[in-house]
Formats: sequence, C-alpha cells, structure tokens
Amino acid sequence: MSDRLPGFSTLAVHAGAQPDPTTGARATPIYQTTSFVFNDADHAASLFGLQAFGNIYTRIGNPTNAVLEERVAALEGGTAALAVASGHAAQVVILQQLLQPGDEFIAARKLYGGSINQFTHAFKSFGWNVVWADPDDIASFERAVTPRTKAIFIESIANPAGSITDIEAISTVARKAGVPLIVDNTLASPYLIRPIDHGADIVVHSLTKFLGGHGNSLGGIIVDAGTFDWSTGGKYPMLSEPRPEYHGIRLQETFGNFAFAIACRVLGLRDLGPALSPFNAFMILTGIETLPLRMQKHCDNAKAVAEFLAQHPAVASVSYAGLASDKYNQLARKYAPKGAGAVFTFSLKGGYDAGVSLVSKLQLFSHLANVGDTRSLVIHPASTTHSQLDDAAKVKSGAGPDVVRLSVGIEDKEDLIADLEQALGA
Ligand SMILES: *Cc1c(COP(=O)(O)O)cnc(C)c1O
Repeated sequence: MSDRLPGFSTLAVHAGAQPDPTTGARATPIYQTTSFVFNDADHAASLFGLQAFGNIYTRIGNPTNAVLEERVAALEGGTAALAVASGHAAQVVILQQLLQPGDEFIAARKLYGGSINQFTHAFKSFGWNVVWADPDDIASFERAVTPRTKAIFIESIANPAGSITDIEAISTVARKAGVPLIVDNTLASPYLIRPIDHGADIVVHSLTKFLGGHGNSLGGIIVDAGTFDWSTGGKYPMLSEPRPEYHGIRLQETFGNFAFAIACRVLGLRDLGPALSPFNAFMILTGIETLPLRMQKHCDNAKAVAEFLAQHPAVASVSYAGLASDKYNQLARKYAPKGAGAVFTFSLKGGYDAGVSLVSKLQLFSHLANVGDTRSLVIHPASTTHSQLDDAAKVKSGAGPDVVRLSVGIEDKEDLIADLEQALGA
C-alpha cells in the first residue's frame, strides 16, 4: 500500500471494515447478539470502569455498529461517531450531554418538521428551551445568545426548500459565544458537504435518508469533530466534571478529542437506550458503499427536474439552490459544488388545492413522508409534515399552502419529468 490518503469513494467502501478475523467473511457480519463474553473478571471490571475498550452489551456498542461509526466518522472527517436508533434519538442524545434543565439552545427556523416539533414540545418537557433564529439573517443568531445558551443547531441543506446555510458565518457566532455548533447534515450527506471543514463541532445525521439511501432502515449518527474544549467555564458539567457512575473520571480529561462521542455513548445511549439494531447498521453500511454514485445521480436528476418545473406554466416558483437564478446559488457554489442536493420545493399557482391535486395524480413519485430514498418521493408539507404549524409559521419555515416538496430519486430523469408533466397538465 502507498502512503496516499484514501479518497472519499474508497472510504465509503472500506473505512472501518476488514475481513472477519475468525471466518474471513468479506462483507461486515451482522453481530446479532445482545451480549459479549468477558475474558475474565479483571477484563469485565476494566470494561465497566471505562479503563479498556471492548464489547459489553449491544445497548452500549456492537461490532457491526462500530464499523458504521468508524466509516461515517471517516467520511465526515471527525474523530469518532456514535450510531443510534434514529435521527431524532441522535438529537436527544446530543443535547442531553450539553443542556441542564432551564438551559437554552438556538436553532435555525428552517428545519425538518419533526425537529421543529421535537424541539418545541418534547424538549420543553425536559426543561430545554429552543430559541429560533433565521438562517438567512446571521445577526439573528448573535441576538439570540444569552448566558444560558449551550449550543447552536442548524441544517447544512435545510428542509424543506433545500436552502443552503452559511455554516462558516454561524460557526463564527458559535465560537464567539463559546458554544458548539451542531450541524444536521442529513440532506447533504458528507459527499456534498463536510460541515467539520467549515467549523462544525458536532455533525448529526438521520441515516434513514441518503446515507442508508434505500428507504428500508431507520438510524441516526452523531459525529464528534474533536474541536470543542468542554472544560472551560464549567458550562458542560457532563463532560468536565467527575462522573459518579464511572469512579469519578472526567470524560474530557480522559478521552480528549473524542470525549463528546464517549459521553454520548456511556451517558446518553447507555442510560436513554435508543440502540441501533445491528441488522439496520448492516443495511446502512451497504447503502453507504454506493453513496457517491447515488448522490451524484440524485443531484443531476434534481437539477433537471427543477429546470423543467421552472419553465412550466402551472408553477409559480421553484426553490432549488442548484438553479443559477436561485437566491442560494452563491452559497451552493461555495458549500456544495458537486450539486445542491435532491430535496427542494416548488409552489403552484393554484395554491393549496393544486398541491393536494398534484400529489394525488403523480404515479412514479410516491406520496409519503420521507426523503433520500432511491425512489422519487413527493409530499405537500402544509397538509402533512408541517400541518401542526400555524399559517405564518408554515410560510416562515418554507412550507406555505401552495408549496410541494420533492425528493428526487435515481430513476431516469426523462421518466420523472414525464410523470410531473402529466400530473401538472391533466
Ligand atoms: C428525517 C430527518 C430527521 C429525523 O430522523 P429520523 O431518522 O426520522 O428520526 C432529522 N433531520 C432531518 C434533516 C431529517 O430529514
């Protein structure tokens, strides 16, 4: 082997994996077991005391999941990662390490509808208060900072309109405030954007979407960039203070630049319990092997579909950052030069009724609440994912009554355009 650093496509196939040492199996085996035998009593004690790394019980870690964790950490350029049962579980685990009851975090207003609900309602019951800011107005993040702010949360390519967030500008605000920047990179995937290169401290994914890529397995992952100093000012006691459940060790002091990933595992996953099934880890790993090929095709198809829609008489406007005329095109060229993703919205001249009619007439596009599948998907956010929001909040989050969201798949683009043409025209 040469000294060359492997490229992205090579990492997507190989990172974290090797032939199974006992059987020679080349694909990563599914270690479908709850528990692992200790070598002896001392080994068991050292595993429980965090003095040695190793497998104990699948709620805390599993060898199949470990390959997935190493692979995504490599693709994102992080120090370590932790896989969990879903994207939402990952968000809970992250914030549990950072916030005490009564603390605040700032979140971009343009987010996945499920995250808006989770932050507004579920997190409120934990005493974690979300403060909304506008990703198109960087100063709104600065104005939102208070002494209780513990983190900033944004999406790299934001739901539902596929707008591009200025990660570097918001990272500067986070640095000044002394809090970590968390970037949900689900819609971009590391193939299009690597947020750590632009100042993110923590990257989170719903693996359910483009990383798994086939619409068959839920999962989530947390990537630690290893960039944040958790010890300053006593702001992050979970990381900086002695842990009574682990003989008084301090996680930052003991684990250095992967302390956050360790905290998520040994305090978050161990105690909250949203473990990823090794079977799902296997499915998602298989998906990741083709991520670069799929993602490029998703983007190329999305651009062709957006161009078709932009000139259609029934369409009022298209919001796709890959179009030269789009207001996010400049940011797309900077952050996502290979393509602006495959999830975007357009609005219909016929308003709410036209949106409902379109989703019912499409045949190749599946009408469902997911994105990032090989198949093309469509939804009318105002009547589904964003229906809980009032009208003003719908419009603010990019999900007004006339808006339709597409997740463009990897079929032949001519077939996708023909399906839209018949549904729009009929
Ligand atoms: C789907 C999604 C989530 C939530 O992930 P689940 O795996 O469904 O829990 C979070 N963020 C974004 C951007 C998503 O698309």
